[in-house]
Amino acid sequence: MPKVIDFTFNPFQEKTYAVWEHGEQCLVIDPGFFSGEEKDCFFKGLEQRGLVPGAVLLTHAHFDHIYGVCTLQKLFPGLPVYMNPAEKPVLEHVPQMCGTFRIPCPDCSFSYTGITEGTTLETCGMMAEVISTPGHTPGGLSYLIRNNDAEDLLFSGDTLFAGAIGRTDFMYGEYDDEIRSIMEKLIILDPSTIVYPGHGPATTIGNERTGNPFLEPFNEPEEEPDPDASPVIIRGN
Ligand SMILES: [Zn+2]
Repeated sequence: MPKVIDFTFNPFQEKTYAVWEHGEQCLVIDPGFFSGEEKDCFFKGLEQRGLVPGAVLLTHAHFDHIYGVCTLQKLFPGLPVYMNPAEKPVLEHVPQMCGTFRIPCPDCSFSYTGITEGTTLETCGMMAEVISTPGHTPGGLSYLIRNNDAEDLLFSGDTLFAGAIGRTDFMYGEYDDEIRSIMEKLIILDPSTIVYPGHGPATTIGNERTGNPFLEPFNEPEEEPDPDASPVIIRGN
């Protein structure tokens, strides 16, 4: 059964995950360690469990999710990094976004292998199904690790949070796409699926299906339009 360590890194409280099952290689999802102290914390966490990074899976290319990618690739030459190529414009926009937030820009020169929906990554002794969940960013991905004898694990990036959904007011965000991604790709998963989001605590698909206030309107029955309702007239001057 896969095991998960979660770290909370950088001023944006981003969640970095290490996932492993057998052996010493672990998947690293969105390495966001920022300060020297955070980097030490990350490597100590792995070392204590006898782990080394075997692959990096990126949910998207926002700066708070990629601070540690180049460091990892330098320390472990040839370390594969997986990302949706549709994130290219988001990655190119990182320096500008960091300028807006007045925060140091990560090194974005890492090399990556493009992946999209339908790919199953067989790596670090696990199978990670790639689910395309655009909306927060155009190339947003979620990763599903199926578990035969326990709950499946979903890494949802900034698409679905416990009791919330990702912002879509950043450059390249699309609200309608995000809702479609959540409702058509994530909420339909087994309710017992444990969701590990890009920020905040873990949750389950079942909890979000019934209790996420941002998804409530989509669960209500469609109302017939009331023929007696007076039309709303807005008059401009
Ligand atoms: Zn984000």
